[in-house]
Amino acid sequence: MNSDDRGFGIYVHWPFCRAKCPYCDFNSHVREAIDQSRWRAALLKELAHYAAETPGRMVTSLFFGGGTPSLMEPETTGAIIDAVRRHWSPAPDLEITLEANPTSVEMGRFRAFRDAGVNRVSIGVQALDDQVLKFLGRQHSAAEAIAALEIGRATFPRLSFDLIYARPGQSLEDWQDELAAALDLANSHISLYQLTIEPGTAFEQRVARGDFATLPEDEQAALFDWTTARLERAGLPAYEISNHARPGEESRHNLTYWRYGDYVGVGPGAHGRLTLDGKKRATRQHRAPEAWLEAVEREGHATRQRMEIEPAARLQEMVMMGLRLTEGIPAGRFRAETGAEIEAAFDATRLSRVIEGGFLAIENDRLKATNEGRARLDAVLGALLA
Ligand code: SF4
Repeated sequence: MNSDDRGFGIYVHWPFCRAKCPYCDFNSHVREAIDQSRWRAALLKELAHYAAETPGRMVTSLFFGGGTPSLMEPETTGAIIDAVRRHWSPAPDLEITLEANPTSVEMGRFRAFRDAGVNRVSIGVQALDDQVLKFLGRQHSAAEAIAALEIGRATFPRLSFDLIYARPGQSLEDWQDELAAALDLANSHISLYQLTIEPGTAFEQRVARGDFATLPEDEQAALFDWTTARLERAGLPAYEISNHARPGEESRHNLTYWRYGDYVGVGPGAHGRLTLDGKKRATRQHRAPEAWLEAVEREGHATRQRMEIEPAARLQEMVMMGLRLTEGIPAGRFRAETGAEIEAAFDATRLSRVIEGGFLAIENDRLKATNEGRARLDAVLGALLA
């Protein structure tokens, strides 16, 4: 079966980091030592398990996320890339992304990752100020981040990096200066995330203790609006709430998620969405690294949840993902996935309220969030779907 226009992606989760950043709620863990060959064998085993379920599909993207996958040995990355190419039918322009942190050890491996087949790197820069990097608990300096971007650009065909803004006390002027410096370093893709305080993180405790306060919502919204307009002027318009790219340079892997396409997820805590026999299934792997490893060694996979997504949930998921995108959701895809027309799928009063409020639009045969709608998408989704 060929991939549809949403692509078919493979996600590989590497759950280890050097240290836990205080804002992070990802499935990331710090360990004294990691048996790389054992982990490599297990990731390959779980990959083979899912390949047997999805034979012949054309894979359009492979994404190494984490954790910090640039701490993987390049031999592991290479073995996984080779296995993906063997198990599925690789698209001629298969996108292979690796997330990396800008420490010297990881930079020293960039060439080996490239030689293993990685053709896109996404670097966790987060800030260009040493004081702020310290506050964010990062293990690198601004100078190291700049060096990583330069080496990354010289090594990989495509490069993106992340910054975190709307930090405590950050003024618009501070952010304007930092973003100007970042744009000088940017290639064709940049991800700009507003700092959010997630449950269970060290930052949540610090905010509760009164160590610092988050920016007021109106200031956050002003920063977001200014940022979106600034990136548009720079030729990297937002194609998703936090992601900006020159047209054609979008992350194909992430587009598959947002367009509600199919993807396999392997590694601890990884999620997948697979359409098999016309039914969409959600998969989730065991979250704890050691339990995942043992389960895969025992059973060949560590799938802990596998369930069919009922039509109502399918509609919700598709809308929650698709409205993040500037392009919105085409009516044809909406119909194919949900069996319904856009206007008929929602409560009429709710739909007209968010459209009249200027947050959503149905135009050119698409359901889209407006700029205002994307800036406050959670509230819009609540008003539309609740
Ligand atoms: S390096 Fe990334 S994944 Fe690891 S703890 Fe920090 S933010 Fe989380």
